[in-house]
Order: sequence, then structure tokens, then C-alpha cells
Amino acid sequence: MRNSFIVFIYSLLVLVICANCSRKNPDIPAKRIILIGIDGMDVDGFQKAKTPNLDELVKRGAISLTTRAVMPTVSGPNWGSHLLGAGPEQHGITSNGWTVDNYSIEATIKDEDGYFPSVFNLIGEQLPNAKTCFYYDWDALANLYNLKTIDQVEFSKSFKQTFEKATPWIIENNPLFSFIYIGHPDEVGHEHQWGSPQYIKALEDVDKILGEFFAALKDADMFEGTHFIVVTDHGGVKHGHGGLSMAEIEIPWIIAGPGIIQDKMIIQPNDVYNTASTIAYLLNIEQPYEWISRPVLGAFENEKKYAELNLNAYVPQPVSNVKNGLYFESALARFDVSDPECVIRFTTNGTDPNPSSRVFSKPIGLIESKVLKAAAFKNESRSRIITIDYRKIIEVNNIELKYLPDPKYSGNGSLALIDRQIGSNDFSDGKWIGFHGMDVEAILSFHKYTDIKSVSIGFLNKRGSWIFLPDEITVLASVNGNRYSEIGKVTPENIQAYFNKGRAEIKVGIKPAKTKFIKVIAKNIGTCPPGHSGEGEPAWLFVDEIIIE
Ligand SMILES: [Zn+2]
Repeated sequence: MRNSFIVFIYSLLVLVICANCSRKNPDIPAKRIILIGIDGMDVDGFQKAKTPNLDELVKRGAISLTTRAVMPTVSGPNWGSHLLGAGPEQHGITSNGWTVDNYSIEATIKDEDGYFPSVFNLIGEQLPNAKTCFYYDWDALANLYNLKTIDQVEFSKSFKQTFEKATPWIIENNPLFSFIYIGHPDEVGHEHQWGSPQYIKALEDVDKILGEFFAALKDADMFEGTHFIVVTDHGGVKHGHGGLSMAEIEIPWIIAGPGIIQDKMIIQPNDVYNTASTIAYLLNIEQPYEWISRPVLGAFENEKKYAELNLNAYVPQPVSNVKNGLYFESALARFDVSDPECVIRFTTNGTDPNPSSRVFSKPIGLIESKVLKAAAFKNESRSRIITIDYRKIIEVNNIELKYLPDPKYSGNGSLALIDRQIGSNDFSDGKWIGFHGMDVEAILSFHKYTDIKSVSIGFLNKRGSWIFLPDEITVLASVNGNRYSEIGKVTPENIQAYFNKGRAEIKVGIKPAKTKFIKVIAKNIGTCPPGHSGEGEPAWLFVDEIIIE
């Protein structure tokens, strides 16, 4: 009897202690959170741009370079997700045109005005005395949140005006939660391309304004105690975004403030909708069951189980003047990194650079095909690795095709096969030419007698679109253009090995030969095979490049 009483008391104690230990962070609840949204800031641009003010936050806090945007990688769905703690499948925002009465997907929960509950709703309900504000320069953003739940809402035409208005208001009113949105880098990306000098400058210009904002907060003694979260909605490729590439989906996410680990990279996977739950966690308020969000626990000192896995400091990745690709000429590769305190180390044998790899100090001559890998090092930490697959290829003088590609997918005609442009998984990207039921039979000639060591051909494998790998590939050589003899062949059995690839670059093993002409024959499988939805219909054969090394 006595024993069971002790057990009872003990269980009570455990319960009480555990109720405490789930909230043992002395800095929770947060006294002020400022969420800064920078539209279209991609991982490469962030690492390349000189952003001392964002870097200060990163040093005082933690950064993830592997946070994922929701699909589609456009602004509305992602800015929705950041504050709504859910994805498009729950909140229903699938495009920039979403409004409270114009959508396709019904939200799983709505407030009395029809909005999926945001961070603003939660604060309004659970901390009714707290002030909130929302400053932005993209009008459509205001459609996503119930503005009635926000104390101060202000639209500006530019990010500079946004800060002119937001800074004094925040200092004067001391809101518990502020959301400041900046559209500038996205606009410049669309106009000049992601990664362009103009785009990098746009990020640097935003950073300058942030520096002024932080300075004003410091003067008002409101910087140290604030939790800052800096987020973005998607990256970009060329002039846009919305697609499926990692450059669009993977984005930076930064947090700094009391109780946050310092000068560390967050390695745990993260998603944009976790921003909302992280804010709720910082404010010690309940999140709705309908959110799928969870706090980014790895950023919190007291969440040791996750935080202790985040060992390394953030080090920006080096950039190079030489890109992956096919080259006729030799090249001089240089590396640069936005943090001058870093040391760049590199390898040329395909292995990952480590702290004892060669230090980059002068341009590296690229004469032969080579895989160059480099990384920046600072103290114990290493950046992401940059890999340059430099392929020195033989220049072709002329190419002739026996059968013409289908007019729908004829690109530059035969020249597409020697333009040094590699196709993507999208057969209509302009880099592929497509043959409908026909073989590829190409004769390539060189300026002079040439030693060739290998022939590789890029094919697309997209059976759902009726695009198949070839049945067989033969390479023949000739010194006079009349009599050809076979120098290499890939059999149907060998082609099977590429069955799961999207773009399959098939290398034809050849006897090294001195030659002036070569003939490449890739046999179309003819018709879509039995069991395929196009059974018996002509099959497509798509080729992007014939690479001679
Ligand atoms: Zn955007």
C-alpha cells in the first residue's frame, strides 16, 4: 500500500517536471519577432552576394540552405504557407491570383471571413493585447491573410518606402510580431535573370536597407532581444520560377535571437510552412490542428537532441568563372568567395576537397577534360562543394543527317547535335531534336585527320511521352567519306542499363582511330512496344548532342 502511494507521488512529480521541461527555454516566450520576407532569394545568390547585415544574423543565429518551397514554386502559395502553417493542399492557395472567393481547392479550415488561420489569427486570439504589423510592396500578398486580424497594415510601392514607414512604427509601437516583405530581388530576377549581376546587386541593396533597419533598432535598444526570421519563397532559373528544379525549390531560411543556436547551419530538413509553427513556439501559443507545420527545433539551444547535430558554421560556397560544359578551348579556372576570411581548397581527381587539399591561389589551367571540385573552409567548417565538369571535346566541322527530324521538334536542325548544348528532361526546351519513327544517321566531318577516343550521344528517355532510347548504336569511321568501317557498337543489351535514366548519355566504346569522317547510326525502336499506351504507333527518338572526345 505504502509502495504504491510512493509510486503515485513519483508519477505526479514526473508529470509536473515534464510539463516544465517542454518549455524550459528561459527566452520563451519571445518578446518580439520580426519576420523579414525577401522574395526570390535563391541559395546561390545569397551565397554569392556580399550581404554583411544578413551575415551578422547568420553569425548570431542559424541558417538552413535546404529549406523547401511548396509546389508550385511561385510566390502566393509559398508566402501563404510561411504564415498559414500549411501547404496548398490545406490552405488552397495554388497561384498568385488566389483571393478569399476565387480558388479551386477548398481550405480545410476557415475563419469567420473565409481565411485559413494565419499567425496573425493566432496572436489575435491568444494574445489579444499584442500588436502586429504587416508592411509589404506587392499588392497581391494582402489577399492571402485576413487583414482584420492585423493591427497595422501598410502597402508601399518600393522596399525603400516600406522601411521608411515600418522602422518608425515598429520602434514606436513595439509590436510582438512584424512581417516585412520585400519584392525587389524577384522583380530584378525576372527582368535580368537569377544569378545576373543585377540580381546579385538587388540582394546587396536589400541588405544595405536591412543594415539601416538593424542600426535603427540597435539605437532604440530593440535589436538584441528580438527574434529575427529571414525567409524567401522560391529560387529561380533564368528569367523565372515555378518549375521543378532544385534551384527553385531549395531556399535559405535564417533565424536569430535569444535561445537560438549561434553561428550554425541547420542540417535537418525544413519546409516553408514550418515558419508559422516556429513563431507559435517562440510565442508559446497553440497552433491549430489543421496546420501541418512544426517548429524548427534544430535551431533551439534547449532542443539538444536536434540542435547538437548542427555542428558546423555557415561558410559561403565559392563561385567560378568556368561553368560545367563542353569546350573546344582550354580554360583558366578561378574561384572567388564572398567571405574574405575563407580559404578555398580544390581537387582535380574527383574527390571532395578536405582541409588538407591544395589551396587555390592562382588560376588553374584546364587543358584536358577534368572534374574540378572546390570548397571554402573557415575554421572547422566547410562550404558546399562546387563541381566543375570541364569536358574538352573535338570540334566538328560539319554534320549531315540522312533523315530529317520531325518539323515539330527540329530545333536548329542538325546543328543542334554539335552546339555544345545539353538538353534537360523537358523535350521542348529547344535543345533536343526528335525523330518520329526514324533512325538518327549522322555523318560528322573534321577539319583534318583527327584522333578520336570516344563518341557519346545524349538521348531522352520519356516513355510516357512515347520517347524511347535507341535499339542499337553503331559508330563507323572513314578517311575519305566513301568507305566506312565500324569502330564501335552498343547493343540492345547494353542500352538496357540506361532504362531508368531521363537523359541517357550513352558512350560508345571505340577503337581509338585517326579519321576525318565518322558516321553515327542510332536505331529507332520503330514502334511503341506491346503493352505501351501507344502500342504499334511510331516511336520517338530524341537526341541533344553528339560528343566527340
Ligand atoms: Zn516570389
